[in-house]
Amino acid sequence: MEIQAFAKLNLTLDVLGKRPDGYHDLRMVMQSITLCDTLTLTPNQGQGLRVSTDLHFLPTGEKNLAAIAARRFWEALGCPAEDLDICIRKRIPVCAGMAGGSTDAAAVLRALNQRAGSPLTPAELARVGEQVGSDVPYCVLGGTALAEGRGERLTPLPALPRCWVVVCKPEFAISTPELFARIDSVRLRCRPDTDGLLSALEEGDLGGAARRMYNVFEDVLPPRQRDRVGELKNALIQAGALGANMSGTGPTAFGLFDCPEAAEEARAVLAENCRDIFLCQTV
Ligand code: ATP
Repeated sequence: MEIQAFAKLNLTLDVLGKRPDGYHDLRMVMQSITLCDTLTLTPNQGQGLRVSTDLHFLPTGEKNLAAIAARRFWEALGCPAEDLDICIRKRIPVCAGMAGGSTDAAAVLRALNQRAGSPLTPAELARVGEQVGSDVPYCVLGGTALAEGRGERLTPLPALPRCWVVVCKPEFAISTPELFARIDSVRLRCRPDTDGLLSALEEGDLGGAARRMYNVFEDVLPPRQRDRVGELKNALIQAGALGANMSGTGPTAFGLFDCPEAAEEARAVLAENCRDIFLCQTV
């Protein structure tokens, strides 16, 4: 089986507080995009579960999130593990705030469930995904959705109106635990208007949704990284984006465009000073 695992973007990301169990309560509007990894699942002859990728620094075998997802799926069904090779062609940048590992895990869950004749409903499959990672339930369902709690409480939303998305991943990586620690130690000056964005989606108002995008983590980035993300967002707006935002805990920035020509032009301009740049559509 060959399957696609779509990247996600955060149209909004808000942190409501820290819980007694150490996790944070989040409220975020998520969107899947056509940027994707490709996974190939092939039965093997008695070699067990094996995972390989085309990026040498990613974990292979049992440590890869794709393998963890397969194990959790077989456990949930109470059936023995299969002899299976999972080969991942990565296109989604790693540690970029686009849920690259989580979406690979979700794609494995969907594929194994489909191959078994769909014994689990999408909601049950999302619950299995919760054991693999907080973003996996959303990645199982995909589309436009509100994610709350750790990210596992999902409400499907009206789809973001048709648009083109220019995605820029700056050259540095960001430490997610460090950013969560910083967010606990500051008073947030600015919060996303999540309810306003939900109303814009109800009304099919792309401009209204794009203008309300915001991510609280942008404010707690280290200064040089915040400047770089701000510079990319400004360049996207200058190039005609209806709105621009940072995804997840960064550092990926993206802009929404209502016309493919403007998006292509923006991609070309930003490619001059950003190596990882993609022109996508929403899924
Ligand atoms: P999120 O948006 O969910 O915070 P991210 O995009 O910032 O995630 P990922 O690309 O998912 O980060 O990578 C997070 C970690 O997961 C990396 O340290 C990587 O080694 C590990 N990992 C395990 N399996 C995979 C996989 N299939 N693809 C990418 N990373 C994986």
